[in-house]
Amino acid sequence: KGPDPDLVAIAERMATVKHKILVLSGKGGVGKSTFSAQLSYALAAMDFQVGLMDIDICGPSIPKMLGLEGQEIHQSNLGWSPVYVESNLGVMSIGFMLPNPDEAVIWRGPRKNGLIKQFLKDVYWGELDFLVVDAPPGTSDEHISIVQYLQATGIDGAIIVTTPQQVSLIDVRKEVSFCKKVGVEVLGVVENMSGLCQRLTDFRFAKLMENGEQNDITERVLGYMREKAPEMLDLIACSEVFDSSGGGATQMCQEMGVPFLGKVPLDPQLCKAAEEGRSCFADQKCGVSAPVLKSIIEKL
Ligand code: ADP
Repeated sequence: KGPDPDLVAIAERMATVKHKILVLSGKGGVGKSTFSAQLSYALAAMDFQVGLMDIDICGPSIPKMLGLEGQEIHQSNLGWSPVYVESNLGVMSIGFMLPNPDEAVIWRGPRKNGLIKQFLKDVYWGELDFLVVDAPPGTSDEHISIVQYLQATGIDGAIIVTTPQQVSLIDVRKEVSFCKKVGVEVLGVVENMSGLCQRLTDFRFAKLMENGEQNDITERVLGYMREKAPEMLDLIACSEVFDSSGGGATQMCQEMGVPFLGKVPLDPQLCKAAEEGRSCFADQKCGVSAPVLKSIIEKL
């Protein structure tokens, strides 16, 4: 029996991709897709040729986070063409293939595996410096498939995104153990939503009752500060939102012997950028997370 023709086809496609990075999380809602999207934007802003592949089949949020809702995949004689945000940032997601975005995708494992195989085999990425793969939360069919299909051609490693709470960290330990079992290097762990950080100018100050009327005092407070203490406007205020008394991701990384990449705060501007399908990284004024994301990416 000869080699599996699918694996041969995947290896051929992947031969033009220099680095492959998986983005994983133990739980949903911790910011994995947001991180994958911003990582891809950041790498593209650094002039790399980047592909972002969303294999979260049941909850594809990547099209929205890159401002590509409603776009469709086209086919050429070279294969399926990704949808391009910029000439050096292409995106592939099942979200582009659903006739109705509100419809649930109820697929069993083999069908999910089939689609992942097809994404790897049939998408024409051309020359890529990085292929970022946004996986669904947990360690299920999709993860086993992607690792199995990519391993023959080599995976650089996985980045695991978590929040600081124990409930999320417990599941990160499972992701680390999954990576160890299947032989994928853990490039590092990102602690997302690590405290709420805002510039003072992002604050909305509470309304004030004056003569029985409600007044929004934000403009008055900021106006006063602009005049009296403009340097204060650049202050960043942070508060702990989630309990990290157990040492958060930093300590877990030490215990498990994997690199800790950094903390991204809960940042209203980052959330806005994700909602509007924009890069938070390119716009240095975008909240307080852009420099943090930059330092994380530099460590990779
Ligand atoms: P996951 O992929 O882990 O399910 P998402 O990336 O979809 O999580 O993030 C869930 C929600 O949280 C999104 O609305 C996203 O914009 C928001 N979010 C993620 N990280 C941050 C952050 N650091 N600051 C503010 N909002 C964030």
